[in-house]
Amino acid sequence: MNKRFDVVICGGGLVGLTLGVALGQYGVETAIIDSIPLDNYLSKEFDGRASSIALGSKNLLDTIGVWSNIKSQAQPILQIRVSDGNSPFFLHYDHLDVGDDPLGWMVENRSLRQSLLQKIKEYPNIKQYVPISVKSVDFRNNFVIFNLSNGDKIESSLAVAADGRNSFMRQQAAIKVTEIPYKQTGIVCTVKHEYSHQGIAHERFLPSGPFAILPLANNCSSIVWTEKNSIAPKILNLKPQDFMNELRERFGNFLGRIDLVGSRWSYPLSLCHANNYVSRRLALIGDAAHSIHPIAGQGFNLGIRDCAILAEFIVENCRLGLDLGNDELLKKYQSYRRFDSVMMIAVTHGLNHLFSNHSGALQVVRGMGLSAVNQAPPIKRFFMRHAMGLVGDLPRLVRGEQI
Ligand SMILES: Cc1cc2nc3c(=O)[nH]c(=O)nc-3n(C[C@H](O)[C@H](O)[C@H](O)COP(=O)(O)OP(=O)(O)OC[C@H]3O[C@@H](n4cnc5c(N)ncnc54)[C@H](O)[C@@H]3O)c2cc1C
Repeated sequence: MNKRFDVVICGGGLVGLTLGVALGQYGVETAIIDSIPLDNYLSKEFDGRASSIALGSKNLLDTIGVWSNIKSQAQPILQIRVSDGNSPFFLHYDHLDVGDDPLGWMVENRSLRQSLLQKIKEYPNIKQYVPISVKSVDFRNNFVIFNLSNGDKIESSLAVAADGRNSFMRQQAAIKVTEIPYKQTGIVCTVKHEYSHQGIAHERFLPSGPFAILPLANNCSSIVWTEKNSIAPKILNLKPQDFMNELRERFGNFLGRIDLVGSRWSYPLSLCHANNYVSRRLALIGDAAHSIHPIAGQGFNLGIRDCAILAEFIVENCRLGLDLGNDELLKKYQSYRRFDSVMMIAVTHGLNHLFSNHSGALQVVRGMGLSAVNQAPPIKRFFMRHAMGLVGDLPRLVRGEQI
């Protein structure tokens, strides 16, 4: 007899773990499979990124009991300043224009992973298979069978693919994707600076791509520096002093002296959007469904909203004793999530396309656009509320309510 679960999640990255914790809290029998050993996953060298967490995402993390462990490390984002190269026009968002809450929080991915894994240990109904990979999967009419790299076979009513941009599960279900390479690399590092950032995030659009300075706790900032693929390896291979010179040229001296903390990381950037988010007994979440440009810091936030609605449907169906892999649940999940993702893809893809170039004519148009939005408080407020994850028909966990 194979071991049987209600739900099997392939992929224990940030999104798979978030869904796991949400289901753990409501007693759903769940397995999470990930091929990366936990020690690697939690090491400092694994992932240098920090994520901007929107208010809606923070609500969910709070409701599933994870935020309390992250809170002390989370840096509130109070303002965002957007500028275009050396253009005098800019856009300025202030959290006070939409209420008392910050526009978001910056949290190191390592802290997020640690807190999610710590919470998962509290639930006996969650079984982790690590470091183990899914070797093949068989989507049957009434259940799904997973063949694991350790020789085990497990089965579930519903399979969830949270296995990232190159999702193996998505390929097994023959779901096609729309893919656009950006020919850009995201160079990521952390700097410590002399003066306080005062909770201000800076997004500078430079011809080779956006350059973001994102406030972290302890007087540090996370840098996401987008460069063309042809240039990025040269920058990454520079000697420390030369790397810092290049960085300082883009960063400026408004925060006084800056020093590198830790390593430099790089991430190839592309858009990858699944043509369907569901197929027989399978739901795609996170980057497996939609991997977007980090220009607006929204990839994980989209994934959190996938988790919120999918968890809501799973828990409701569980309480009613219904089959968790039923078509109605899957269709509802897809119809709830596609619009939000497509909108975010349009925004991130459009912004990157519009700003990552040398065109003088486009710079004039962009300047007019930034200035027009800056002087239109209702539009600015809408953009802020959207980035905070507060627009649309929100799942209960995102509203901070229990399912
Ligand atoms: C430079 C950069 C900055 C970003 N900044 C932000 C930000 O500020 N805010 C934000 O919201 N988003 C941000 N993002 C996006 C965010 O990081 C991603 O959307 C998010 O990490 C995706 O998580 P995931 O769990 O879906 O996928 P992944 O992190 O890719 O996890 C997939 C997991 O699946 C496992 N796996 C794969 N195949 C198998 C298999 N066959 N068997 C078992 N396990 C398997 C892998 O080991 C991995 O652990 C950024 C992205 C980049 C590149």
